[in-house]
Amino acid sequence: MLDKHQGARLANLWDDGKAAGMTEPEKLLYRSNLLGSDKRITNYGGGNTSAKVMEKDPLTGEMVEVLWVKGSGGDVGTIKMDGFSTLYMDKLRALKGIYRGVEFEDEMVGYLPHCTFNLNPRAASIDTPLHAYVPKPHVDHMHPDAIIAIAASKNSRELTSKIFGDEIGWLPWKRPGYELGLWLEKFCQENPDARGVVLESHGLFTWGDTAKEAYETTIEIINRAIAWFETENTGPAFGGRSKPVLAAADRAAIAKKLMPVIRGLVSAGESKVGHFDDSQAVLDFVTSTSLEPLAALGTSCPDHFLRTKIRPLVVDFDPAQPDVGNTLAGLPEAIATYRADYAAYYERCKRADSPAMRDPNAVVYLVPGVGMITFAKDKATARISAEFYVNAINVMRGASGVSTYVGLPEQEAFDIEYWLLEEAKLQRMPKPKSLAGRIALVTGGAGGIGKATANRLMQEGACVVLADIDETALEAAQTELSTRYGKDFVRSVNMNVTSEAAVESGFGDALLAFGGLDILVSNAGLATSAAVEDTTLALWNKNMDILATGYFLVSREAFRIFRNQKAGGNVVFVASKNGLAASPGASAYCTAKAAEIHLARCLALEGASAQIRVNVVNPDAVLRGSKIWTGEWKEQRAAAYKMDVDELEAHYRERSMLKLSVFPEDIAEAIYFLASDMSAKSTGNMVNVDAGNAQSFTR
Ligand SMILES: [Zn+2]
Repeated sequence: MLDKHQGARLANLWDDGKAAGMTEPEKLLYRSNLLGSDKRITNYGGGNTSAKVMEKDPLTGEMVEVLWVKGSGGDVGTIKMDGFSTLYMDKLRALKGIYRGVEFEDEMVGYLPHCTFNLNPRAASIDTPLHAYVPKPHVDHMHPDAIIAIAASKNSRELTSKIFGDEIGWLPWKRPGYELGLWLEKFCQENPDARGVVLESHGLFTWGDTAKEAYETTIEIINRAIAWFETENTGPAFGGRSKPVLAAADRAAIAKKLMPVIRGLVSAGESKVGHFDDSQAVLDFVTSTSLEPLAALGTSCPDHFLRTKIRPLVVDFDPAQPDVGNTLAGLPEAIATYRADYAAYYERCKRADSPAMRDPNAVVYLVPGVGMITFAKDKATARISAEFYVNAINVMRGASGVSTYVGLPEQEAFDIEYWLLEEAKLQRMPKPKSLAGRIALVTGGAGGIGKATANRLMQEGACVVLADIDETALEAAQTELSTRYGKDFVRSVNMNVTSEAAVESGFGDALLAFGGLDILVSNAGLATSAAVEDTTLALWNKNMDILATGYFLVSREAFRIFRNQKAGGNVVFVASKNGLAASPGASAYCTAKAAEIHLARCLALEGASAQIRVNVVNPDAVLRGSKIWTGEWKEQRAAAYKMDVDELEAHYRERSMLKLSVFPEDIAEAIYFLASDMSAKSTGNMVNVDAGNAQSFTR
């Protein structure tokens, strides 16, 4: 069913040596992490595992049976010990006495906290009864693509029995919850020899008497499904190819053009971040004859469509006669139609107590011959949504190759999407940070002020592209920031701001990484010192190239993106006190800084009608962490003031009106203010962060 890499069998990774000496909860953790380490076994955050363990009751001292089960919102691949809920089995069993029937099953979730063992604060998930009522000590529930492909086939029951005989049973579609737990219990009682069960349109349950047996059964059953598809699903993927695949560079070029425009059209309610995927599985789908009909059927596994919405938007693009201009022109209408269809789906399916309609925009955009673009509230969510749609593609490929693929009925899909318990989960999410979903590019991003700025913006939830010419420093800065905030939030590009081509390609990389741009912090700089009669033309030009031309080139590129994106924009120039105040022996530097400041004013004027704001921060004497304040410039400045290099910081501090040193973090704070909505009504402005200097008072 799958391509060569995915067709390979799952390896049994259980290591008796490692497991020896582990307690039962530790073995549960070990098994969970092994299962979750392979996306063919379960998708991110999908599925759960459990063990029923005898433990000493902290109150009575008696031994009691405790259910350890993955708690709400966790991921089995990355779960730690504190990710499991623990509940008294006798209390869980006692819940049967108060169950009022399927129409009241949601209220049972409210009783789960009453069953908590040992004051464990981890909330129990909706799937808890599914594990509690399977009368086996170790239970795995996974969402393997190969099994969901069977579960989402029209004749899923027949296929299950054909492949697994009596070993694996089958249950019709039922939303996960209390009632499904009772169904599973009944199934186990009636089929004591079964090793597991396929849930229609959903996934797999397997069990065992030991942790190892449960793990090995799960692997074995999934491998059997993979092997079966390998022999049965031998025809061309998705009924064959009907469209060409563009070359990798052309795919990227098209994606860079589409992403900011789509982003602008879908970011009205909240800023979104994009992700581009042109892996083989995606390309097979977006070039196939079945693209449109299968995409229209929607995804099957509930986990899939919660992340991807029930349907993707297939972008009108013909890779045989690529005309991206035409596609771009058609996007506003295509997106408006998608939103109207979504609103109609909401109206058709809503119930009296349904939560209000959520964002009606598509999450997944399929571009024939090019790949898949996803947009979500942050990069991790966009990337994970793409992973989920790849799962859905694998499922459709398997099911449509051996049977007829069926999506979930619309009303069932709606009832899960707008489930009150799901809504409660969303309401519990923390309020988004002030720059969540915003994308910034910082030039000179590996230096003192640049890195401090990236750090400040990321602290507020922004995604940041660090641009610098110092490859080593760039790598170190990216590593530092990704360790602190997560890999999804930061990228780096090697960019010489004086090169038109380098600027264009660096911004292109940023678009491909995050799908757009909101904030440009132009900060890359240098400083030189020389009396005017000793200033060579080369030195003069160097200052002009980096400080004036460089700021022009990056701003021009940002403006082009902002105008395509049609969602405003924000430019912050890091200029200098010396752009306002003359300084001895630095005419080239001071003049170029003055040019920067005036460029900012011109751009503020030009950008205003498109909601593009342009402001300036003027630092003075930020020595710490600066790459400018090393070597020559420091020595030249010290010489100009007739003092030692290490007296400079104190000199500048004493020279300031407030008698304070200025640090990179101080500049970063002002940049954050100007880059955020806190300064939404300011443009053409200037903030001096120089500890007070009368010469640079603006007037
Ligand atoms: Zn599930």
